[in-house]
Amino acid sequence: MEVILGVPFSYSINGEVRRLLEDFRDMINFCIDYAYRRKITSYARLRKGVYEEWKKRWDYSTHFCHSACKIALAMLKNHRRRSREGKPEARKLFMQLDPQLYKFYGDSIRISVKPRRFLYIDLKYGEYQRKFIDAWREGKLKTGEVTINEAKIIIPFKKDVDLTNPKDWIAIDVNESNVTAVSSNPHILKIESNLRTTHTTYFNIIRSIQKLSKFKPKTAERLLKKYSGRRKHKAADECHKISKKIVSFASEHKMGVVMEDLKGIRKRIDYGRRLNRRLHSWNFRKLQFYIEYKARLNGLPVIYVNPKGTSSLCPVCGGKLAPNGHRLVSCECGYEDDRDVIACLNMLRMRGAPLPPKALHEPLTVEVRGRDESL
Ligand SMILES: [Zn+2]
Repeated sequence: MEVILGVPFSYSINGEVRRLLEDFRDMINFCIDYAYRRKITSYARLRKGVYEEWKKRWDYSTHFCHSACKIALAMLKNHRRRSREGKPEARKLFMQLDPQLYKFYGDSIRISVKPRRFLYIDLKYGEYQRKFIDAWREGKLKTGEVTINEAKIIIPFKKDVDLTNPKDWIAIDVNESNVTAVSSNPHILKIESNLRTTHTTYFNIIRSIQKLSKFKPKTAERLLKKYSGRRKHKAADECHKISKKIVSFASEHKMGVVMEDLKGIRKRIDYGRRLNRRLHSWNFRKLQFYIEYKARLNGLPVIYVNPKGTSSLCPVCGGKLAPNGHRLVSCECGYEDDRDVIACLNMLRMRGAPLPPKALHEPLTVEVRGRDESL
């Protein structure tokens, strides 16, 4: 199976690129208009129909015409599906380029505008992007159809992986001070994380800088930039370390990954204090994202389950759990366990995976400390 990950790179737009983006938007609208008036839905017919007029209006490589036709038809289809009146209009500046239209160099990209006429753009990248560039240089990844807008260039990296038919599933609970992973094997991984400490430390630093801004705005601005950057870097680094440990463990045991879907949850719904707190903090989605892309690159399936009830219901009998001390929760049926482990067990149950027999009474715990690099 082919796994594709779109990786965004920042760049500084210049006049030439902007003009190309504006022209491309006009091409899309031209194609939409042509197809709409003649009720064309086939790509071949549209391409053939617009080509002569397109060639007169724009002096670009023919591939731009292909791409504009493709996007125009997709927009029309989407418009019809939503049963809207009239025709859609492309307003935002963006374009998609076939592999024939660009050449990727790792830290820059070359766009073919017309034969022997090229635009060179330098790409800005951080740690995350650099890993993809390195893997691409080693020949482990290929690039696909590139998307360019005013702010970003999104490069899809493709990798052929053998999608593992998972022997087991591992549920991952991400919370403010640790990450818990449980499989039905049974393995319980507890990874202590510094994410919360990092978050608090920088929250305090940034707050005191903001106080300073009344008296020394210039200094405050400079410090704010510095520490915001450091916070971001530190958090990303933590997320990489934690996700790497979990995914190499899952990969070694050929496990699919189950996580809570925290994306679609609205603030007004009260899912309980524990979950609400997680939703309002900023790192959980980031960490989940790192786990997901690393897992996918390793050919491991990743699924999300509805988090409702994962930390309040008994994984054995389904009864309501009551707190029993700081970390423990217990049920009337006699079952008692760590609250994070319970959240994972409920996720496994929702996935239909068998519950680990041992974990029901005495969990086998594998402690993995945050700074240990051995896994
Ligand atoms: Zn119970």
